[in-house]
Amino acid sequence: MSLTADVVVIGGGVNGTSTAFHLAQRGVRVTLLERASLAAGSTGKSGALVRMHYTNPHDSALAQQSLPYFQGWHDVVGPGDPGYRQVGVVRLVQPRFDDRLRANVAMLQGLGVNTEVISPDDLRALDPGVQTGDITCAAWEPESGYADPAATAFGFAEAAKGLDASIHEGVEATAIETDGERVIGVMTPLGRIATETVVVAPGARANALLAPLGLDYGLQPNRVQIVIMRRTADDGPSHPVYIDGPNNTWLRPEGDFGTLCGIGRDQLGVNPDFYDEGVDFDYIVDSRTRCAARRPALATAFMRGGWAGIITMSPDGHAIIDELAPYRGLFGILGDSGTNFKTAPAIGKCVAEWIIEGASQTVDLHAFRASRFAAGELFSGAHEYGDSLLDVFR
Ligand SMILES: Cc1cc2nc3c(=O)[nH]c(=O)nc-3n(C[C@H](O)[C@H](O)[C@H](O)COP(=O)(O)OP(=O)(O)OC[C@H]3O[C@@H](n4cnc5c(N)ncnc54)[C@H](O)[C@@H]3O)c2cc1C
Repeated sequence: MSLTADVVVIGGGVNGTSTAFHLAQRGVRVTLLERASLAAGSTGKSGALVRMHYTNPHDSALAQQSLPYFQGWHDVVGPGDPGYRQVGVVRLVQPRFDDRLRANVAMLQGLGVNTEVISPDDLRALDPGVQTGDITCAAWEPESGYADPAATAFGFAEAAKGLDASIHEGVEATAIETDGERVIGVMTPLGRIATETVVVAPGARANALLAPLGLDYGLQPNRVQIVIMRRTADDGPSHPVYIDGPNNTWLRPEGDFGTLCGIGRDQLGVNPDFYDEGVDFDYIVDSRTRCAARRPALATAFMRGGWAGIITMSPDGHAIIDELAPYRGLFGILGDSGTNFKTAPAIGKCVAEWIIEGASQTVDLHAFRASRFAAGELFSGAHEYGDSLLDVFR
């Protein structure tokens, strides 16, 4: 392991590997440290929905700038395959929020996102197995879908290595060394790496790494579960992704015959190093009930597996992507709030631009500033559905 680097990236999830790739692509000498294995954190457990529909333009812009990576990985990144499935995404809300849905679709269209408001009849034409009695319209994104989250991180890492990045698995960053307000190095069990720039993307272990620097953003690791059900023979061959507000659930295809789903019931404040990685029995029952409320054939689907992972909530349910004052050269991608898989390609690109050019060019990151909490400027959209905090809509 080289003991000097232009930039050290801490964390080998999708955000760390994306950042390493974008830095290496621009000739920066980058070292990435991953304490376990690549994608071992939230990334490996992700539902990996890729959708543009948010209630604010900032997250949507990051998602929109990331979509071409999933759609054209071979040309944009090169090695690997993120396993992108463009099955389309449907966003459903309670009818009392229809005006907000229309306003958000208009906002997205203004950004150039391919989305429209469709009727229940249109939706049944897309998916004959869907139940639409409780909705009066839906937002439809034909180019969205889902991906393989671990494969995405592996692909970024492989591409970064091909551009001479040093990627080290099983090496923990034990401390970030500073001299006053300047970053000067990263400590590891294999020695100290001298560097003036560090990108901290450690997922749920952010608090442990940042506390010695006096940085506390109120980040909370929460346990989130996922269930996979095998669809029965009378169900259709596949279905779109649903983000289903009325049933407080989301579901997407998994393989040829499975449906992967999550419901809005996070376990708050868990230890990211010691938590139950399995699925609770009552969560399975509740998931099947809620999924069947949207796609009735799922009432008899067989439970085939599931897991639990960790998301790291920030106080307003949106990420922090910033240079972490008062330190110069210390960048953070923190508080993913359960929604930063789909945005990771653009996040890595923006952070690389910031480090190299002094500012992000691709998306304005001001909304993601770390200082917003202390200033009481919490981030929210103009037309929320009331589900942005403890949001199941990954
Ligand atoms: C169940 C579930 C469903 C989700 N569904 C979606 C979805 O549908 N769509 C979506 O966009 N997002 C979703 N997310 C969120 C998404 O997975 C995360 O936002 C994203 O993976 C975060 O990536 P990351 O690289 O920031 O963090 P992580 O993937 O957590 O990576 C951090 C890495 O840093 C390493 N690390 C930590 N500390 C150190 C250290 N000191 N030294 C070295 N390495 C260290 C860890 O081992 C880990 O591998 C979901 C998350 C979960 C858990």
